[in-house]
Amino acid sequence: MQTHFSEAQLADPGIARANEILRACVHCGFCTATCPTYAVLGDELDSPRGRIYLIKDMLENDRPADEKIVKHLDRCLSCLACMTTCPSGVHYMHLIDHARAHVEKTYKRPLTDRLLRWGLSKILPYPSRFRVALLGAKLAKPFRHLLPDPRLKTMLEMAPARIPPVSRNDDAQVFPAKGERKMRVALMTGCAQKALDTDINDATIRLLTRLGCEVVVAKGAGCCGALTHHMGKEAEAHGSAARNIRAWMREIEGEGLEAIVINTSGCGTTVKDYGHMFRTSELAEEAAKVAALAKDVSEVLMQLDLPEGKQDLKVAYHAACSLQHGQQIKTHPKTLLKKVGFEVVEPRDSHLCCGSAGTYNLLQPDISKNLKVRKIRSLSDKTPDVVAAGNIGCIMQIGSGMDVPVVHTVELLDWATGGPKPPKLFSNRP
Ligand code: SF4
Ligand code: SF4
Repeated sequence: MQTHFSEAQLADPGIARANEILRACVHCGFCTATCPTYAVLGDELDSPRGRIYLIKDMLENDRPADEKIVKHLDRCLSCLACMTTCPSGVHYMHLIDHARAHVEKTYKRPLTDRLLRWGLSKILPYPSRFRVALLGAKLAKPFRHLLPDPRLKTMLEMAPARIPPVSRNDDAQVFPAKGERKMRVALMTGCAQKALDTDINDATIRLLTRLGCEVVVAKGAGCCGALTHHMGKEAEAHGSAARNIRAWMREIEGEGLEAIVINTSGCGTTVKDYGHMFRTSELAEEAAKVAALAKDVSEVLMQLDLPEGKQDLKVAYHAACSLQHGQQIKTHPKTLLKKVGFEVVEPRDSHLCCGSAGTYNLLQPDISKNLKVRKIRSLSDKTPDVVAAGNIGCIMQIGSGMDVPVVHTVELLDWATGGPKPPKLFSNRP
């Protein structure tokens, strides 16, 4: 695609990167076929190619974002299915991230939007605030029909019935390896996940230590910045990311780390991109080091010796977009589940997003619900005993509609290798 940025515009590294990406696009439209919002809405402007044109026009003309652009960019899930499909290697993720930051700087959203987005950015990345909000939402749930904004209603509907107690495993500490130490790794314990489902980090720590990893929960590490990054709130996202980089660098320069293990694939995609996020900052070198060590938990488990076994359970594997498209990890979780003995099945259209996508299910409830219904139908058609996924967002989204338990892949792997049965398998609790 031809672009017409001036020399002065190209002096901005963000515009220079956008220019590179736009020039790679040959507007073939292959990406539209796998775009979930195009599948639901059927509008070219809700396809990757349509959004690329909108962004090009806005940036080239150095225009503030307007209502039309914001509508179509907000509807993008950042699922990155378009990047998997694109034959020209168009890095849509960096382009939409840049465009969202431009929207945030140049567009004044209606007051309710601003308040909602501000509230989400001040609550979700902070586990203790999020716990209080979840408790409030649980109490307010019976009155949700009185709320005027459908998004607020959805937020109350999404509040889980059970809020787990705080897990002390999420505090900064070191968990020694059982037996001979094979690896020293940091576990990113995250933010929202710590409030929503503490079983995931607990299972990850048990599994990794049993397989010979010393697991460090680094002091000062927290939210990866993805939630605010996808809202275009650059300063907040960079602040969270910088705290993590400094916390993990202390470990890297101290006793050393072989990997930074991430069990929420949405966060993994962002941490792996820290090198790009900080490329022009004083933290560039450290950010690149951290990004190079960032691994999805399934990548690390593939390097360890999981015992073979036989389990009498059919698992439907749901591929989170951030794992299959964002990190291009498609087979590891299925290979691991099969190795320990589970029967693994996959739903049709497994490339399509479940509609969770960070805060998307709260901010775009209609499209999100449409995708959720499709996903639940395709998973249910496989008549599984349990659904496994590698991202808390998907687990909450699908779990709120399935009639079988939805757990993290590591909970099944932990159980199959000597850990306790995942609590959700006892009661199908949400
Ligand atoms: S598939 Fe790639 S090159 Fe083709 S229109 Fe989409 S982004 Fe552009
Ligand atoms: S990220 Fe997903 S929703 Fe957004 S344009 Fe690409 S395929 Fe469509």
